[in-house]
Amino acid sequence: MTMSGGAMAPLLLPLRDSAHRNRSTWMQYCPLCLAADEAPYFRRQWRLASRVSCFAHGCGLRDRCPACRAGIATFDQGEFVPQHFCARCGFDLRAAPKASVKATARRLERAIADICMVESVKGSAKTSDAVSRVLRTPAAANIRSGRTLTNLSTAARVGCFEALAAKPLDWLVNDMDGADAYRRWMIVAAGGHEALIARFADFLEGHKGAPRSKRTPGMCADRSELFGAYLRVMHSDGARASAKGSCGSSTRHSKSVI
Ligand SMILES: [Zn+2]
Ligand SMILES: [Zn+2]
Repeated sequence: MTMSGGAMAPLLLPLRDSAHRNRSTWMQYCPLCLAADEAPYFRRQWRLASRVSCFAHGCGLRDRCPACRAGIATFDQGEFVPQHFCARCGFDLRAAPKASVKATARRLERAIADICMVESVKGSAKTSDAVSRVLRTPAAANIRSGRTLTNLSTAARVGCFEALAAKPLDWLVNDMDGADAYRRWMIVAAGGHEALIARFADFLEGHKGAPRSKRTPGMCADRSELFGAYLRVMHSDGARASAKGSCGSSTRHSKSVI
């Protein structure tokens, strides 16, 4: 139930005394995960403001009891009962209605989670940059500017992610080195780091000794889209100034992918 320190700490949802409408609560949950558990428990990832859906079930997370609208406070239970019962009214959270999140928003959410995860392995400086950009996404999405992501309810953050998914990625790569911006963009374009690696692996496997004429049309189309978007990133206002010194190395990297 606890997450201390670490690169993701700024994204932890704050503990509040009350669950005002449109404000964040301390804990989220997936009813289907709880229903599938032999002994229902709350996942650490559900404490993060950057998470709005369940990667396993594809449904939206919930941050309130649907019966009494209270926030989830498993630490405040007055009786010795399993955690999936609401501490205030006793509602079985496994029976909460399924929430929906657009596929485009779920795809962006996974990419954001992977970018934060990948960059936290490299070093704290890169991690804080990605996390701070994620915290400012409400402003980037023109939703309740002035509030950071951790202050928004799950429903409001779903709206934020769905709006962001329809926008250019400027908010994520502005003022960055060209190579670093390109890496982030590639993860988003693939729908996550794992999907990106899988795509590269499939590409390399498919072309190991194969003649160029056997390339699949789908891969060619994807690469065209990837590099087209890369050029747009490189020519954006923010990237142009800082990308001069590294443009060459990024281009070489692109050629090596081809
Ligand atoms: Zn789930
Ligand atoms: Zn309740």
